[in-house]
Amino acid sequence: MSNAEWAARGEQVFIKTYSRFPAAMVRGEGCRLWDDDDREYLDFLAGIAVCSLGHCHPAVTLAVCQQAGKLMHVSNLFHTEPQIELAELLCANTFADRVFMANSGAEANEAAIKLARIHSGPGKYEIISLTGSFHGRTLATVAATGQPKFHQGFEPLPEGFIHARFGDPAEIEQLVTDKTCAILCEPLQGESGVRPLEPEYLQAIRRICDDRGILLIFDEVQTGMGRTGTLFAYEQLGIVPDIMTAAKALGNGLPIGAMLTTEKIAASLGVGTHASTFGGNPVAAAAAVSVLKIMLADGFFEQVGKTSRYFIDRLQETAEAFPTLATGVRGRGMLLGLVLTEKGIEKGAEIVQQLFERGFLINFAGMRVLRFIPPLIVSREEIDKLVGQLQEVLEGFK
Ligand SMILES: *Cc1c(COP(=O)(O)O)cnc(C)c1O
Repeated sequence: MSNAEWAARGEQVFIKTYSRFPAAMVRGEGCRLWDDDDREYLDFLAGIAVCSLGHCHPAVTLAVCQQAGKLMHVSNLFHTEPQIELAELLCANTFADRVFMANSGAEANEAAIKLARIHSGPGKYEIISLTGSFHGRTLATVAATGQPKFHQGFEPLPEGFIHARFGDPAEIEQLVTDKTCAILCEPLQGESGVRPLEPEYLQAIRRICDDRGILLIFDEVQTGMGRTGTLFAYEQLGIVPDIMTAAKALGNGLPIGAMLTTEKIAASLGVGTHASTFGGNPVAAAAAVSVLKIMLADGFFEQVGKTSRYFIDRLQETAEAFPTLATGVRGRGMLLGLVLTEKGIEKGAEIVQQLFERGFLINFAGMRVLRFIPPLIVSREEIDKLVGQLQEVLEGFK
């Protein structure tokens, strides 16, 4: 079958929620993908910041295959080895003492929202999140998401979600009331255009939470699992959240999410208060255990840091070479964005399309920034190839 034939079949059966690239992917290895027309791509999207160890990392594939041959699912009515090992690794390497396993980022955030509410008690249910945020597509997480375009047509949304203007701690301070139970934010906004929150801003948010006795929830679904150069982004910020969520890269491609918190806060979720049939499924958990073991091995993050600095330099050089199209680079680790000018924004979708035609995958985050989220194992040669093609494409729009 060809890409075109697959696309025609897909068009007949899917609800049209996605605008897909015209390619049917059949195989992946490291930073490369191949489609059914046997075209090769260099992947700077990584399944949306998911395949952080690259496609089909041999150790992850082996862990998945071995677990699939032993036991695929029993539900959370039983213990399983991979799930326990995963929770132990997460607790040993973060601020957290307790974990709840989910299947996705939105589900992990739902668990965090429910925990913040039940922990805070009756009448304290409001959650403040930021404009430009993205927290998922379920009704509660879409209500938490601070972008009206995700709300339209789905009202009435669940009550109790309030949005504060990005970057302004004074506004958060004003919005906190007796009803507030938590502030929810991403340490770096990925979907709306790779916007880092300054450490001073996040520290101010932490102080507000402490002063007013409310919880700080970090949505590290995109920034976590090494994406910003440390296992979790909060490690670089001099503060610790009360609740944190992870998903995306946790299983390197298998669906798994986690909500992490302290012993004291976790005590508020008792038997029967929350559950998931598949959450922490043994096969997905086995994948996540192997991902964590690789990332926590000596030298992994040093290497990510070096490659990140190289990539930032090359993107910076690109921004300087095309001042009419780009103004600079932002982001941390391997969550990077080339910030476009007004003229660049007009051409953003076309730039992405032309790179796709040349066999390079990136995306246009929030319709304002070219986002680069390659596997963390990307090489300098692969970065050079991408930047070379990007500069040629930009040359055509100058
Ligand atoms: C992707 C993402 C989510 C939603 O995760 P899903 O697995 O798609 O439900 C939530 N928060 C952030 C910050 C994300 O990037």
